Amino acid sequence: MIQSINPYNGEKLAEHKEFSSEEIKTAITKADSAFRNWRKTTFKERANLLLKVAEDLKTNSKEYAKTITQEMGKPISQSIAEVEKCAWVCEYYAENGAKHLASEDISTDAEKSYISYEPLGVILAVMPWNYPFWQVFRFAAPALMAGNVGVLKHASNVMMSANNLEKIFLKAGFPEGCFQNLVIGSGKVEEVIHDERVKAVTLTGSTGAGQAVAKAAGGEIKKTVLELGGSNALVVLQDANLKEAAKVCAKARFQNTGQSCIAGKRLLLQESIAEDFLNLFKSEVEKLKVGDPMNEDTYIGVQAREDLAEDLEKQVQDSVKNGAEILIGGKREGAFYAPTILTKVSREMAVFKEETFGPAIGVTTFQNEEEAVDLVNSSQFGLGVSIFTQDFEKAERLAPQFEDGAVFVNELVKSDPRLPFGGTKMSGYGRELSFLGIREFVNIKTVYFK
Ligand code: NAP
Repeated sequence: MIQSINPYNGEKLAEHKEFSSEEIKTAITKADSAFRNWRKTTFKERANLLLKVAEDLKTNSKEYAKTITQEMGKPISQSIAEVEKCAWVCEYYAENGAKHLASEDISTDAEKSYISYEPLGVILAVMPWNYPFWQVFRFAAPALMAGNVGVLKHASNVMMSANNLEKIFLKAGFPEGCFQNLVIGSGKVEEVIHDERVKAVTLTGSTGAGQAVAKAAGGEIKKTVLELGGSNALVVLQDANLKEAAKVCAKARFQNTGQSCIAGKRLLLQESIAEDFLNLFKSEVEKLKVGDPMNEDTYIGVQAREDLAEDLEKQVQDSVKNGAEILIGGKREGAFYAPTILTKVSREMAVFKEETFGPAIGVTTFQNEEEAVDLVNSSQFGLGVSIFTQDFEKAERLAPQFEDGAVFVNELVKSDPRLPFGGTKMSGYGRELSFLGIREFVNIKTVYFK
């Protein structure tokens, strides 16, 4: 049985019977047969359905948000914002998908030659619990607009949200089989990948899960897009607006109770401003309201599961043993981990070299820009970096030196349907969102007339 448990109070919310192999096959048969008709629909028809989904998300955001908060502890105002953001990505692809996938004439020595973008078929999406709606919509809106159909394997702890997602697409009028939730644990993912009717896989999750899925898909020569872990740096240079930067950095690390792949997990401060900045940053963090995730003014709730808080506790304790100092926090109670700032963090420590998935941040200082770039790039991950400076020329000079998939200047790294999103190194490959995201799961076909 797969269970939904409220991490704030331990209440069991629901039990979900896992699909048998037979039920998995039936769902894929349904998806494959839906694809045969869905691929023939026009962009206009697909766009209209996506707009209906967006409407439903906006109208019922509170209801969907409540389930998210109950299942994984996200503060309710952030859950509502997440659901509303999903409406945005549906609207974006409804409006722009046809343009992104329009055939392109290319002049060659042919009478006529062009590129056309055609759907692949059934795509498997393996998704994490940290943004139970957003991660799925980021895949589903462009995939459906492109004429593909989706089967979802959501994280086991958010199956109620996963069921809501399937219902939302049906309610909007998407034909049965276009988007289905497979109630399965991670042990059955390979079985789905090996089904020949499944054409490609996208996975958002940890690096370990990405490796397992890419290996299975690689054996079948099926394309994967991997959005994996991160350890983004927040780099505060001495000419930054320190007050503004402190506010942005607090949000970058602590929103979603620190459980975001693109959260700023390593705070890198230029030595000359480190003390002043740290005072400002500490007072911003102390302002964040900790409490019951169902209260609208709560900013920091509990982690999604107790074992996640335990993992974070271990990483912090291990770093302290190796010389880091706790400025604030460092305490755990069940699934709650107090907002924590660690100073004197160096490269060998767990909070620097591993991904920390909760409300704790390590502070490291540097002397000059060269050292800052080296510290940022020394991570095994490469999702994004934020740099804080008032000198735009300096920022433009530094931007190409980072190995990450995104550089944000004076802003936290965030996803926006109009801009590509994805990482390098152990953070994965491929891109979601923008015109690049919708072209990940299509057959880019050359057509040539002599
Ligand atoms: P996770 O444990 O890797 O789980 C993600 C999904 O993969 C779940 O559906 C999980 O199923 C499944 N899974 C786990 N191990 C698997 C395996 N060996 N084979 C097949 N499927 C497997 O990650 P999480 O704890 O849910 O999420 C946190 C991680 O996701 C962090 O590392 C975070 O940085 C990353 N993340 C990345 C992005 C991005 O865009 N780059 C966005 C959000 C999160 P079960 O739940 O059934 O185990």
